[in-house]
Amino acid sequence: MNCNNKFPTRQTHLDFHTSPDIKGIGSKFSKQNFQAALKAGNLDSITVFAKCHHSMCYYPTKVGTMHPSLDFDLTGAMVDAAHEIGVRAPIYITAGWSDMDAVNHPEWRAVSKDGKFVTTGTYDPTAAPNHAKGDCAWHMLCLNDGEYAEHIYALTEEICKRYSVVDGLFYDICVIGNACYCETCKKGMREMGLDPENDSDAQKYFIIKRQLFMKKCNDIMKKYHPNATIFFNSGGADQYRPQYHDYQSHFEMEDLPTAWGGYDKLPLRAKFFGNKGKGYIGMTGKFHLAWGEFGGFKSKDALKFEVASMALYGAGASVGDHMHPDGEMEMQTYENIGYAYKYLESIAPFCYGGESVADIGLYLSSDREANEGVSNILLENQIDYDLVMDDNFERFDTVIFPDRVVLSDESLSALNAYIDKGGKVVLMADALVKNGEFQIDTGLKYIGKPEFDCDYIVSDKKHNDILNAPMLCNIPGHRTENIDAEIYSEIITPYFSRTYGHFCGHKNTPFDKSVKGFPAISKKGNVVYMAHSLPKQYREYGSLFHKKYFVYALNTVYSGGYLKVEGLGSQGRCTMICQSDKSRYCINMIYASPVKRGCAEIIEDIMPIYNIKVSLKTDKNIKKVYLGLTGEELEYKYDNGMVMFTVPELNCHTSVVVEY
Ligand SMILES: [Zn+2]
Repeated sequence: MNCNNKFPTRQTHLDFHTSPDIKGIGSKFSKQNFQAALKAGNLDSITVFAKCHHSMCYYPTKVGTMHPSLDFDLTGAMVDAAHEIGVRAPIYITAGWSDMDAVNHPEWRAVSKDGKFVTTGTYDPTAAPNHAKGDCAWHMLCLNDGEYAEHIYALTEEICKRYSVVDGLFYDICVIGNACYCETCKKGMREMGLDPENDSDAQKYFIIKRQLFMKKCNDIMKKYHPNATIFFNSGGADQYRPQYHDYQSHFEMEDLPTAWGGYDKLPLRAKFFGNKGKGYIGMTGKFHLAWGEFGGFKSKDALKFEVASMALYGAGASVGDHMHPDGEMEMQTYENIGYAYKYLESIAPFCYGGESVADIGLYLSSDREANEGVSNILLENQIDYDLVMDDNFERFDTVIFPDRVVLSDESLSALNAYIDKGGKVVLMADALVKNGEFQIDTGLKYIGKPEFDCDYIVSDKKHNDILNAPMLCNIPGHRTENIDAEIYSEIITPYFSRTYGHFCGHKNTPFDKSVKGFPAISKKGNVVYMAHSLPKQYREYGSLFHKKYFVYALNTVYSGGYLKVEGLGSQGRCTMICQSDKSRYCINMIYASPVKRGCAEIIEDIMPIYNIKVSLKTDKNIKKVYLGLTGEELEYKYDNGMVMFTVPELNCHTSVVVEY
């Protein structure tokens, strides 16, 4: 994570998906109101719309259809108003969802393998006009370089020619799904020698054509506006779809934590995109739940927490809004955003423009849950980590391999070189298992997948944090045999898996005390193996003891790190960057406790935390430790390579600067 974020950091993404049935579009738009909102929001960028999910365009167009109740160039008016006060205004174009286009051109729709039109949300093709419609229920259109894609190219060219300054283009709904079986795609596959009946061929075709779509949009835009930014949302900032990353000028990490899975998704993404050498921003909404929610708000303190959380991981911020059809900006929204963005602006010097010095590396697996499980456990223990990129193991004290990671020969030789130099490795489940054998020396022989539907970990080592009783593992451990590893704990199995034929009581079958155990946690040299995917299990079931067991195993090799924080609790988050050009470290801490209320995960109480003890390992000559925002100096001790100080109070967020 380099945190050298060159992209504007205080953006609003202004949606405007407006039914053609509504009259008076933009009738209350005024430059004064628009500019007042941007100023109140303390914005440096606002994404404005040219074409919405209803297929309506908001400027005079020959390519598309201008909204029937709009009689002026609203897109241009917003761009000009923003530019006049020094705010960037990239332009939004819908791609995958475009309702009128889908109705007028069924042949433009994406089709699934079973021949049905692809839809999203709870779209019901049999519904009568008066039936209630669910959220986000749209037809998907095919962007695979066919007629509809040509339409978007033409629209792109029209917009690029129309406006003398285009700061950037934002294409929405670009990569949902992995294959399309519309007639054009099937014909295209055959022409390319690919078989539409073969799933991997269909997927291959999809990727080739989606890349081509992105390339052509890039080419058109750059012909007219070589320095403009471009981003393809809904897939463009997915760390698991690297094939599309080259086509993005920067990354907008869309995430609505209240409704889309909570507050812990951003850090992993930010750590990934922070390593790509381009700008990256977190993208949330002003809404209580999700996009397009008129009248839905989250509190301004929750918004402040969200944007400060983004900054903690070096990401800029974008807060989504949805303008009323009459074009008037809702000032309450911009007061809330302004409250959050004033704070973001004040802490920016301590969050951006530095290098992560985290000494634990996470090697990204294709198993998302396993990655997120590791990330959550580390975050909850304030163990700052970074992702291992390009097999650069050397900068880390310890590298963690979640389930499913299999290394290429080249990566394996880099890892073995790292281990030979004293590098430490923690692996779990079937990580680094290829053709039924471990790729590195774990001191164990890999036998195979779990035999039962659950199992139990038994430890004979006394440790304060872990159970001294058999601990249920809902996701059972992989089977190994010890050769020459030190065994820290063992697995015992149940009498049988729970089936209709054999079951015991309400839930999991009890453990059979007579069976011989096999390795659960073991160590050979600097290599620790965990038979279970404890992080994945923790992410799914949330048992405190799975988390503690993982940390216990990690600490058998991890040397304790450069930064230790005590007193932040499991909901506290802490990161540190080194700003070598300013000869200082910046430590950022944040605390809030999101809670599930109804269908949402919300933040209501932000309670202060007192007396957080920090120790930092450094060989630098420390000159001063102070709170970034107030300049208040903190007393510190320097002893044996450790700087130690206490942060008296944390209220939502604080930045501490350690100058050397
Ligand atoms: Zn298609």
